Amino acid sequence: MTAEPSSRRSYTQPAAYQSLPGGPLDPDRSFYDRIAGAERTLTQRFEIPIRSAQAWEVPAGSLVRLYSVEGPQVGDLNLWNLHNPRERFWAARTRQLQRASMTTYDRFWSTLPYLRPLATVVADSLADHPDAEVIHDLLGTRCDPYVNRMLADYDFDYHCHSNLTRAILPHGLTEFDVHDVLNVFQFAGLNDRREYFMDSCPARPGDHFEFFAEVDLLCALSTCPGGDLSVHMWGPEAASTEEQLEHCHPLGVEVYSLPDEVLAEWTPPQTAAYQGHRGRHGLVSEPYRA
Ligand SMILES: [Zn+2]
Repeated sequence: MTAEPSSRRSYTQPAAYQSLPGGPLDPDRSFYDRIAGAERTLTQRFEIPIRSAQAWEVPAGSLVRLYSVEGPQVGDLNLWNLHNPRERFWAARTRQLQRASMTTYDRFWSTLPYLRPLATVVADSLADHPDAEVIHDLLGTRCDPYVNRMLADYDFDYHCHSNLTRAILPHGLTEFDVHDVLNVFQFAGLNDRREYFMDSCPARPGDHFEFFAEVDLLCALSTCPGGDLSVHMWGPEAASTEEQLEHCHPLGVEVYSLPDEVLAEWTPPQTAAYQGHRGRHGLVSEPYRA
């Protein structure tokens, strides 16, 4: 029998992963406020049509703005170190270090053995939305043709996984480089049964999400074929791909350079400082000693 919501336990335990004040999980907010408010110079602008993706390079010290153009639309975002694709966004660790959705001052952490912020969020027009806690979802990952085939028994080539794959091929990357995403503008979370749900994207034209590139980045963004996710993609109430099409819109991307005087205060992040040998010294493993 399912417990009534009123008898549910609430969890008030502190976050497991914390740094000391001023440490890596406590960035200088006033610096990022100055970044967000600084005079900016447009260097790239493009729109990503429905059910497609684009990859683009961003120099460290730039600002990236993702925005709603015509209507609500979810975007699936991947980030790599431009010079080393093995260093890429690590959604699972970012969930632990930040939270299950991302907003201003949260950072995109990179995979091991690098573990540094690839980018920091500096603006989020939906930060004050009543459902802000479940917007810009970090729990779920990209839609893909394999799970679609499994659940819906037909092949579809324009899921985010495939869109991202096509977009990164010209950059020398493959399907194996596509990784767990940030679902920008996506309303999603865990329901009372702790199941993953998605709801209608609240972004309206002009809504935006901005991040500061802490290293040279390759970014890729897919316009999810589910569009605003207001209709079901799978199960007995699933809408057809044609019905879903009515809920699809393009997304806009802008990249800006920033004035030198603002960047003078910025120290690019270093990779993780761990210099150990994982318990191996020479050719044999040493037993643990306190
Ligand atoms: Zn998708």
